[in-house]
Amino acid sequence: MQTPPDTPVPSWAVGDITVHRIDETLLPPATGPWLLPDATPQVVAGQDWLHPHFAGDDGILRIDSHSFAFVVDGLRVLVDTGIGNGKERANPAWHNLRTDYPERLTAAGFPPGSVDLVILTHLHADHVGWNTRKEDGAWVPTFPGARYLTARAEREFWAAYDMEEARRQMFRDSMIPVEQADLLDLVDVPAEGARITPGLRLVPTPGHTPGHVAVELSSQGATALITGDCIHHPVQLAHPAIGACVDIDPQQSEATRGALLASLAGTDTLLLGTHFAPPTAGRVVAHGGAYRLRPVPAA
Ligand SMILES: [Zn+2]
Repeated sequence: MQTPPDTPVPSWAVGDITVHRIDETLLPPATGPWLLPDATPQVVAGQDWLHPHFAGDDGILRIDSHSFAFVVDGLRVLVDTGIGNGKERANPAWHNLRTDYPERLTAAGFPPGSVDLVILTHLHADHVGWNTRKEDGAWVPTFPGARYLTARAEREFWAAYDMEEARRQMFRDSMIPVEQADLLDLVDVPAEGARITPGLRLVPTPGHTPGHVAVELSSQGATALITGDCIHHPVQLAHPAIGACVDIDPQQSEATRGALLASLAGTDTLLLGTHFAPPTAGRVVAHGGAYRLRPVPAA
């Protein structure tokens, strides 16, 4: 994962849209047991297809941080902004990173100044980090020419939430500067989803957080879905009941995942996992009473 920024950018074709993966970092081995405690080595060992890409022989889950970038209807779009550099975080895997993320974005053809739209699937620290960067000691928007967009239900949930200090810090350094620059738009996302522009739709996928959205792309009869955190790891295709320790509403999260997977199974929709290690993308197929991912490697 820690490849130099001049290596080819992984990408997938969705009709005439090219979706690029913008790598930030591979998360440390301790991430899996913390995030998905029910995905034990025994559970993982029961799914051959997870190896070697999505899990090591030791049963340790591989979990990445990356964004997706694409052009749709003339708009240059980035979905989620990772952990960010130099952020003060309680989680040591997220604390004070120094990655080449902006260089990778530029290498993919998306220099930060060129981005038109930043979609935030939800407001967790590993999805909003590159909203801002430090300039002369202050956090300023990384994408000053972009509208940033998240679900109204998501922003309002956190506005009413009794935040611990670490979360307040995240809002201070990664959300408030965007709001103060008047770059944040809140979107009402009804049950049937919200169309942003032709070929781009937000799909309500609550549970992990109340206003969580997945992002659907469509072009020329082809469809792709960017998961955000309604699915963290492919093991959850085989075991949709396995939730994340940080799900706000675990029952809702499980119900959302079950319904989403049922709707995707056997279709041509390309599932693009926001935390899935390479090959990152695939199709959902029936498997052993649940599902598995049939990987679609990047071009
Ligand atoms: Zn996440």
